[in-house]
This record gives sequence, structure tokens and C-alpha cells, in this order.
Amino acid sequence: KAGQSVESGFLFYSEEMNLRAKEHLRLESELRQALGNGELQLYYQPKVSLRTGRIMGAEALLRWRHPARGMVSPGVFIPVAEETGLILELGKWVLEEACRQLTAWREAGVQAPTIAVNLSGRQFDSQLPERLAELLERSGVLPEQLMLEITESLLVRGTENVIAIMNKLVAMGMALALDDFGTGYSSLAYLKKFPISTLKIDRSFVIGLPDEENDCAIARAIVTMARQLRQEIVAEGVETPEQMAFLRGLGCHQLQGFLFSQAVPAAEFEAMLREDRRLTVEMA
Ligand code: C2E
Ligand code: MG
Ligand code: MG
Ligand code: MG
Repeated sequence: KAGQSVESGFLFYSEEMNLRAKEHLRLESELRQALGNGELQLYYQPKVSLRTGRIMGAEALLRWRHPARGMVSPGVFIPVAEETGLILELGKWVLEEACRQLTAWREAGVQAPTIAVNLSGRQFDSQLPERLAELLERSGVLPEQLMLEITESLLVRGTENVIAIMNKLVAMGMALALDDFGTGYSSLAYLKKFPISTLKIDRSFVIGLPDEENDCAIARAIVTMARQLRQEIVAEGVETPEQMAFLRGLGCHQLQGFLFSQAVPAAEFEAMLREDRRLTVEMA
């Protein structure tokens, strides 16, 4: 490596960029096909109460079963979709699929809890409330059955327009959750401006609990202030009983993480609901 010239270093770099651009393009066209080919699926990850251990809701997470590549992670294809604008079509599919599933559950007599769907900032335009109203009407899903997860980037965009759209969605009966909290640039004080009812503490702060002092301090600050703002607090990515116990001690309300369950196909989530599967919340 040390013997390489700057020039060859540059060549190597540009070739790599070229490869990445090609890979990007391929992913984009394959993703476009995936939408039509039924390669996309929604999985559901339960959110459980730290008080009762019961399932309070679930987050719908997109899965792409590629015929050759196998499961492609949303961490890989969502950024591509965001960049290309394909996220608008994907996002529409996700909302429709979540409503279709909620309707199927209702028709099967399954008492499904609120399902949270991730929204890209790109989906957040002034047409969104109308489009959602139309979808709810068409599918017979109640607005209370849908929660919308948004990210801090949207708040930072923070225009009056964004706030107006949020207010409309809330007035329609949908709840808004702020995803990945703590990773962006918004502050807790800033949150007051927005009609957000649920705060999701990002997994990156949960990982270090209860040993990393900084993570503990951050988690404590978030939970304390969010409670004062009367927000429901969900901790993401909880994997151990020790993390759970710590969060519970702070007064965090819900947990979403591998400790209880990964995201699972609809049928599996339905089975959990039917058997009323619970998290054991006794202290570790
Ligand atoms: P997110 O919305 O923050 O979703 C939580 C992610 O954390 C999920 O990853 C979930 O599987 C993972 N997770 C949950 N609990 C644990 C845990 O205990 N340990 C570990 N290691 N991971 C855990 P996933 O499904 O890979 O999704 C990644 C991201 O992709 C999501 O993060 C979200 O930003 C995006 N995404 C997924 N589906 C959609 C979608 O339908 N629309 C949009 N716009 N974005 C989506
Ligand atoms: Mg989310
Ligand atoms: Mg999240
Ligand atoms: Mg996250």
C-alpha cells in the first residue's frame, strides 16, 4: 500500500466509485422490479409494555427477498430508494400493505394492536393527509390503528408546512412517533413544537446500558424529559435483561428488541397475538 503512487490510488478510488455507482443502478432497477414481482414483504416487530409485558403494538419493517441475493437488508436498499425517489412508490406499497394486513386481521377476528409504519421525509408533503385519508377509507382501517414513524431530519426541516401536515395527521386520529431519537440534531426542547406522542430512543444508546456511563446519562435525560412532555417512550434494540431492567428503572414505557422478538412475518406475529405472548418483566 505504502508503495502505491497517488495516481494509482486515485485510479483505484475512481474505479471503486464506478463499481459502486453501477451496483447502485442495478439495485435500483432490481428494486423497481421487486415491487411488481412480489419480492417485498412486511415483517412485524412487537413493542411490549415494560409494565405488563404485553404486546402494545408492532413496527412494520420492509423485507426484500431477492431471488438471487437472498434477503437484502433495508439498511442497503432504503438509502438507494431514498436517493432515487423510488422511496415514494415503496412507501406507498408499505402503507397499502400494512392496511391490507390490518383488514385481513380484522376479518379473521384477530385483535391487532396499532401498527407503526416508517415514513421517509420525502413522503411528507402536503398531499400526505389526503392520500392517507383515502387509503383508510378504501381499506376500512381506523386511523388509530396506524402510527407513523418519522425521523429527526424532518423536524430539522421544521417548516410551518411540516408542522401543519403533522397537525392534520394527528387531527385525523393517527399518532406520530419520532424514530431513532438522539441521533439527529433536534433537542428535547425543540420537540414541544411538534405533535409527537411517542419517542423512540435509538438503539445506539441502548447498547451500552447499563455499563457505559455516557449511555446511561443520555438514556436517563431522554426518559426524564420525555416523561415531562407526556410522551410515550419506546427503547429500540433492547437485547438483554440488564438493559430492560435499567430502562424500566428509568420509567421507560415500552421496549422493542430482540430480547422479546425480532421482526417476524405476519403469520408469526398473529400467533404471538393469539397466544397473548408476554415478556417476562421480573427484574434481572
Ligand atoms: P428503524 O425504523 O429504526 O427500525 C429498527 C431497526 O432495528 C430494524 O432494522 C430492526 O430489525 C432493528 N432492531 C430491532 N431490535 C433490535 C435489536 O434488539 N438488536 C438489533 N441488532 N437490531 C434490532 P431493519 O428492519 O433492518 O430496518 C433498518 C431501517 O430501515 C429502519 O430502522 C428504517 O429506518 C428503515 N426501514 C425499514 N423498513 C422501512 C420502510 O418501510 N420505510 C422506510 N422509509 N424505512 C424503512
Ligand atoms: Mg422505525
Ligand atoms: Mg428506529
Ligand atoms: Mg434505529
